Amino acid sequence: MNVLVINCGSSSLKYQLINSESEEVLAKGLCERIGIDGSAIIHQPEGGEKIRTEADMPNHTAAVKLVIEKLTDPQVGVIKSLDEIDAVGHRIVHGGEKFASSVVLDDEVLKAIEECNDLAPLHNPANLIGINSCREIMPDVPMAGVFDTAFHQTMPKKAYLYGLPLSYYQDYKVRRYGFHGTSHDFVSKRAAEILGKDRKDLKIIVCHLGNGASVSAVKYGESVDTSMGLTPLEGLIMGTRSGDLDPAIITFIAQKENISAEQVIDICNKKSGVLGLSDGVSSDFRDLAEAAGKGNEAAKTALETYAYRVAKYIGAYAAAMNGVDVIAFTAGVGENNAEVRAKIGAYLGYLGTNIDPEKNKLRGEEVILSDADAKVVTMVVPTNEELAIARETVRLVNA
Ligand code: ADP
Repeated sequence: MNVLVINCGSSSLKYQLINSESEEVLAKGLCERIGIDGSAIIHQPEGGEKIRTEADMPNHTAAVKLVIEKLTDPQVGVIKSLDEIDAVGHRIVHGGEKFASSVVLDDEVLKAIEECNDLAPLHNPANLIGINSCREIMPDVPMAGVFDTAFHQTMPKKAYLYGLPLSYYQDYKVRRYGFHGTSHDFVSKRAAEILGKDRKDLKIIVCHLGNGASVSAVKYGESVDTSMGLTPLEGLIMGTRSGDLDPAIITFIAQKENISAEQVIDICNKKSGVLGLSDGVSSDFRDLAEAAGKGNEAAKTALETYAYRVAKYIGAYAAAMNGVDVIAFTAGVGENNAEVRAKIGAYLGYLGTNIDPEKNKLRGEEVILSDADAKVVTMVVPTNEELAIARETVRLVNA
């Protein structure tokens, strides 16, 4: 079965065509600047080069049409016609409390997703536009929606409630939802598999460290806590997001800088994190490492502060689960950045992690970092959210 996986943002659309039997990526790509001047599609067939084509994309439907054109192109395509796309899997950011698992998309479900727009005004409407564009072009192809929030719906009340008047939860559904659920689920499952154990027997802490970053506590197969909250702004210090703050800072800065609370939140989302802490060096950890290597103090501080926050969350989640068996690092930084992992690892000795500095140098592959006698197994498990979405889609459309 060929599954087209779509991750649609407000002005971009990422895609992968995955063969579900071999789990091979047949082609992947990105449409950028949709609805803006200078739009382009970057398409890459398996084993081939990336091909960038400037093309007019006034809207997402035009982008989906172009994706199909590329996939079926006689030269760079990988299928003969649209008929060879058997299902489409859509990444959806927010499923609120309505969606604790993935779903087959139909009119009724789409209405329910729309009702969650309020909770993710930047993301969900874009996801829905992508879904509607695909339905327009492929009306007979079954489609599934896989939510970033769904895996965390198992969190108990004590983990998801904030210390606010209860009516805010009752009236507005203000609570912790968590994100990156597809990744936390995939990585915790795979970590158990690699160790030859059942996830139901393990307490796992997953550190998804990418541009966006979150930690989760996965106890006996279920998410019991996670660091992102109502929105992806809470928790770890990220590429450009601040993570946890004293909420009083928002109005304090607003007054000092004579800007609105919304503007401060925008700064917390886009200009903070390691970018802000490094005084503008970069949100990218490769640039930060380079600057720190050359003696840039702000870049060094950014890396120290980042690692410290991750370590504090690991400690908190070990407490939340009354122990931890496995700590798994994943996503761009977690998979590739040995230095950041070493900095975090330096705080974890009390758990008995015994991280081997030589093994820690490996990157981008599945590897167990701890010695054989470690009490807590620390490992790197590359995430693959697209594959997880494809698997979910196959499961749902075959059900
Ligand atoms: P996103 O949240 O956008 O999916 P990624 O998971 O791709 O983010 O992570 C991006 C981060 O991963 C960047 O900060 C980048 O520096 C880091 N990263 C990616 N590859 C490497 C590498 N080879 N070495 C060090 N850091 C890397």
